[in-house]
Amino acid sequence: MPTEELKQDAEQYLMGTYARQPISIVRGRGSKVYDLEGREYIDFVGGIAVNLLGHGHPDLVLAIQRQAAQLIHTSNLYYTEPQVKLAQVLVEHSFADKAFFCNSGAEANEAAIKLARRYSHDTYGAGRFEIVTMKNSFHGRTMATLTATGQDKVQKGYEPLVPGFSYVPFNHLAALEEAVTDKTAAVMLEPIQGEGGVHVADRDYLKAVRELCTQKDVLLIFDEVQTGMGRTGTLFAYEQLGVQPDIMTLAKGLGGGVPIGACLATDAVAKAFGPGSHASTFGGNPLACAAALAVLRVLLEGRLLEQARHMGDYLGKGLADCKDRHRVVRDVRGLGLLQGIEVEMDARTVVGDCLRRGLLVNATGEHVLRFVPPLIITQREIDRLLDVLSQIFNRHAVEGPAH
Ligand SMILES: *Cc1c(COP(=O)(O)O)cnc(C)c1O
Repeated sequence: MPTEELKQDAEQYLMGTYARQPISIVRGRGSKVYDLEGREYIDFVGGIAVNLLGHGHPDLVLAIQRQAAQLIHTSNLYYTEPQVKLAQVLVEHSFADKAFFCNSGAEANEAAIKLARRYSHDTYGAGRFEIVTMKNSFHGRTMATLTATGQDKVQKGYEPLVPGFSYVPFNHLAALEEAVTDKTAAVMLEPIQGEGGVHVADRDYLKAVRELCTQKDVLLIFDEVQTGMGRTGTLFAYEQLGVQPDIMTLAKGLGGGVPIGACLATDAVAKAFGPGSHASTFGGNPLACAAALAVLRVLLEGRLLEQARHMGDYLGKGLADCKDRHRVVRDVRGLGLLQGIEVEMDARTVVGDCLRRGLLVNATGEHVLRFVPPLIITQREIDRLLDVLSQIFNRHAVEGPAH
């Protein structure tokens, strides 16, 4: 169907929740995708930090094909091997002892919030249920997770919000110390705020947060939905930041594009979830778990993590260099292959300019461009991005903000 016609039908049949770029993507290969007209794009969005192995990775495709032919779904009324195996691999490579599976980041955080409340309830009785989250955070779009999200634009119009949440500025220890009271069950944060504009947590701050939480038996929840699964160059971002959480959530890259989320926790905390306390019909189904196992196998057995670390450094340095050469670039932030730049111009015009030059990039907020390519991205592809950004910023400098 021609792109223009598809656009019209989308307007007619889909709810208007998304502002989409004017292309119809029909296939992908490695770090590249192709639109209906056959134009090629280097994918620095990666399905929003989802397509870790790029598009059409043979190991992932084969795992999905095999599992689909064998058993797609059967419910959690029965045991299935892919789910147990996936839990085992995640546990063996993290601080956690137990896993619960669901289908998205919001659901993983919903599980984390419920687990924290339940743990606190079972340990200390009713009334100790509050969760402190960060301003500018992003935790999802369900009622509890949009309440946890410290951004007005996500919450506006959905009041009344879920009770029991409070917010403090990110990387501000004194504010957190003040916000944690005898009613607090948990502190929840992203090691790197992704949607909020790529802000990295300070190591010293995180260490102090961990100490504060341990001292008060307040659970520390890391939302690694975006930072997890090798995105930052280690399997989980917390490994580089020097502290361990009590609960961690995953989704985005976990299934390499197949929807799956996970809530991981230590034994002491996970025991608050007994039979009937939480559930998800699709959660951890064999198809999604087989996909996630394939992704993990590639990450753990190959060189991809190391490569992601190198390419992340290369991209970070290239962007820093770009900042030195272009006044319009105000800041460069990130870790591994989660990088962002803050620009003085409208970030959305840069997204459009990149698209026309064969690059998919994403704006988070008015002035931040975010780069979350597949971990298989190459130096040449990064060079192309840096080159195109330079052209765009040069033109902006000549033509001024009117462009
Ligand atoms: C994307 C994201 C979510 C929400 O994930 P969904 O799968 O869209 O529900 C939650 N937390 C973080 C940090 C995210 O980046």
